[in-house]
Parts: sequence; structure tokens; C-alpha cells
Amino acid sequence: MDVSVVIPLYNEVENLPRLHRQLQETLAGTSLRYEIVFVDDGSQDGTTDSLRELAEHDETIKPVYLRRNYGQTAALRAGIDHAHGEVIVTMDGDLQNDPADIPRMLAKLEEGYDLVHGWRRHRQDRWLDRRLPSMIANWLISRTTRFPVHDLGCTLKAIRREIATELELHGEMHRFIPILAHQLGARCVELEVKHHPRRFGQTKYGISRTFRVLLDLLTVKYLLHFFTSPMKLFGGAAMCCATLGMLLLATSALLKVAIGADVTGTPFLLTAILFLLASLQLLSVGLLGEVNSRIYFAHGEQRPYRVRTAPWDSAQTVQRPRQVPDWATSAKSAEAA
Ligand code: UDP
Ligand code: MG
Repeated sequence: MDVSVVIPLYNEVENLPRLHRQLQETLAGTSLRYEIVFVDDGSQDGTTDSLRELAEHDETIKPVYLRRNYGQTAALRAGIDHAHGEVIVTMDGDLQNDPADIPRMLAKLEEGYDLVHGWRRHRQDRWLDRRLPSMIANWLISRTTRFPVHDLGCTLKAIRREIATELELHGEMHRFIPILAHQLGARCVELEVKHHPRRFGQTKYGISRTFRVLLDLLTVKYLLHFFTSPMKLFGGAAMCCATLGMLLLATSALLKVAIGADVTGTPFLLTAILFLLASLQLLSVGLLGEVNSRIYFAHGEQRPYRVRTAPWDSAQTVQRPRQVPDWATSAKSAEAA
């Protein structure tokens, strides 16, 4: 199998047959061996029956029916787990992504990348509650993770199997896939894709998503930079608190000895105690984090590194790309600026 197109569906009954038709028009016109993994994420609007009917007449469809609504991330994970393709293409099931972009994405991947993620440059969603929060979130994420990206929210992506199967998708982490993949050593590149307004059905997300993304960003930042050595974060904070606490304690002692002041209950002594206790707690969290990280690597068959197994299999005939992809150089120049 060359390509698996993985599509999560939650209450997309009107979109499903149209999407299926568009996908077949695009994919049947290529020489690719493909399958379409539709994941029904516990729909209640008839999507399940519609999918069952489509799958009966089309053997390229691999339906996956989740028992209840688990959310887009879990649905994507389920789709990837059931996919057989060497390349996994993920996209939305609401016709907002355009199947006609898939061949372009695959061609880009063949240039020697491991992940191509879409950039909905002309995004067809409302400005105030969708595009603006998304622009701010993307900018913040770019700055925090040092991963230059315009549009993390675009589901349309092409990912090599090797990377897709290793992605740890929990909670709502599908929005951070390119960053997680990059952490696994994937060569990532962005590609402009088309975007259409939603014609049928409802979006499943509101403005509250922005705040959840910001919380997820904290998690991702921690996973990226401190997961294997939490003590660097917590130990550093503990040292700062301990230093401040000691300084305040010394000031209290000085006041007591030099001018005989009654330091009991003064802000100096109280904040000194607060900082010293905080430093002890931070140190304990750091130690627990270190132990946790060791348990994770010891028992989860996880490794703190990834070995490239099939580097250029499907890109033997094309020119080998530069080791440093474009976005990395643009990151450097952005940092320099
Ligand atoms: N989706 C899903 N489970 C959910 C929510 C969404 O499978 O709990 C699917 C949904 O059917 C669609 C895709 O995820 O195919 C993106 O959802 P939506 O269009 O609502 O997101 P938006 O485009 O508004 O960001
Ligand atoms: Mg949508």
C-alpha cells in the first residue's frame, strides 16, 4: 500500500458522500495503491450508517467505528493505527480541505521530507473568532517552540509511516503533530493548500479551543525541552528560590544582630521561609520528574533517540535535499533578526 488517507468523521453525514466522491476522483487518477481510512468518531447523525453503506461498495475504504466520541486526536490515532500505507495523509472530513492537494503533498514528500503540513494561507473561516485567535496561537507557538510554522491547525498533512506510527497523540495533541514529528527527527516542510468554507454540518470547536491550545503549548514546551531532564527546569527554579530565600534570611539575621529588630512576622522572614519551602518542593518535583522519565524509557520500550530506518527509499531517484530544510534556515534568520 502506497498511501492511506486517514479522515476522522464526527457528524459529517452530508459531507461524507461528497468527500468520498472527490477523493476517488483524485486518487483513482493516480497510479498509487491507496486506501481511505474513514474513522467514525461516535457520530450520532447517520454518518455511521452512511459509512457502512459506502464501505460495502468500495473496497478501498477501510472503515473504523469508534464506540463513542473520543475527539479528533484519538480518531486520528485510531486511523493511523489501522492504516497500511507507506505514507499517511490526514485530512478533515468536512470538505474544508481539498483532496486535489494530495498529489502535490505527496510530490513534496518525495523530495526527501518526512512530513508535509498544509498552510491554509487563504483560510475560509470567520476572522474574529477563528482566524485571529489561530494567528496569535501560531505566532506564540512558533516563538515558544522555535518551530517556524504558519498554520498548525491544518489537518491536511502527508507523513511517512515511520514517523506517523511513532507520534504520541494524547488529549488534543493533533494540533502539534509537525512539532512532535520534528522532535522525532522528521524533516518537515510547509506547503500552501486550498481551504473551503464549511458548507454542511457544524464546526466542533468554539473560541474556548484557543485557551486549551495555550495550555497544551505548556505541555509541549515541557515535553520538547525538559522531558528527559526535568531537573534542569525544576532544579533551576529551586536554586533561584533557595538563593532568594537565603538572601532574605540573611537580611533578617542582619536586622536582628545589627539593630536588634524584632524580625518575627516581618515580610523578610516570612518570604524567606516561603522561598525556602518552595525551593524544597521544586526540588522534589524535579526528582520525581527524573524518576518518571526513567520509568518511561525503561518500561515503555521508548528511546530518547530515533534511528532513521528508511531514509531515502522512495526518494532514491530525486535529488537529495539539503540536510537543513528551508524552515530551519528561516528560523535562524528570524532568531538573528
Ligand atoms: N472531528 C472528530 N471528532 C471530534 C471533533 C471533530 O472526528 O470530536 C472531526 C470532524 O468531523 C472533522 C475534523 O475532525 O472532520 C475537524 O473538525 P472541525 O471541522 O469541526 O474543526 P475546524 O475545521 O472547525 O477546526
Ligand atoms: Mg473544519
